[in-house]
Amino acid sequence: MEPTAVVFDLDNTLAVTRRDRQTLLDEATDAADVRPIDRAEYLAAHGEDLASETRAPIFDSIIDEGDPGAVAASYRDAIRRDLAPVDGAESLVRDLRTDYRVGLLTDGPMRAQHDKLEHLGWTDLFDAAVVTGSLPAGKPDERAFRAILDALDVEPAETVFVGDNPTADIEGAAAAGLVTVQVLRDGETPSAAAHATVSAESLVEELRGLLAAQTRL
Ligand SMILES: [Mg+2]
Repeated sequence: MEPTAVVFDLDNTLAVTRRDRQTLLDEATDAADVRPIDRAEYLAAHGEDLASETRAPIFDSIIDEGDPGAVAASYRDAIRRDLAPVDGAESLVRDLRTDYRVGLLTDGPMRAQHDKLEHLGWTDLFDAAVVTGSLPAGKPDERAFRAILDALDVEPAETVFVGDNPTADIEGAAAAGLVTVQVLRDGETPSAAAHATVSAESLVEELRGLLAAQTRL
């Protein structure tokens, strides 16, 4: 089936932070005057609690002393200041919209993810955008993919999902019946669930060709 829709992940697919997330997390814990938090510890707690308005419940589950709301606010600010579009990402989306329905499906708290879209100037860039903080479950849960498919009014088999996370994005999208394109960085190996792969550096140049080739995969 020829694809009629493309859905993108946001973080590390269309937008990247200039500094690594551990550095930003350290900046946030320092600013909020709480103990340092390891990125792995944060991610474990983040995976447990995606469906919330802010990251405060995530930090509340990690720290025993200090104000989790203050860490959440500092971390949100740090990421927002640091987040930048992948070169050419915005024009890629605009260009694709001439031929495809184009959506965004991003995991995370509502406030944090909407702040990112505002900072990037992307609140109206997509035909539809779904933040999983508004849903009962995030990626890789099928309901997350169903939500963006419904918002775009398209079927899974005609939709290509583009993302970097092998589990949440690629396995999740494939299990939900979408066609998958995995964005790979140095040293990363393709997921068995990836229908196609593209290196992060060539995503903007090569995605159109990959989409045209999907009928042959
Ligand atoms: Mg990502």
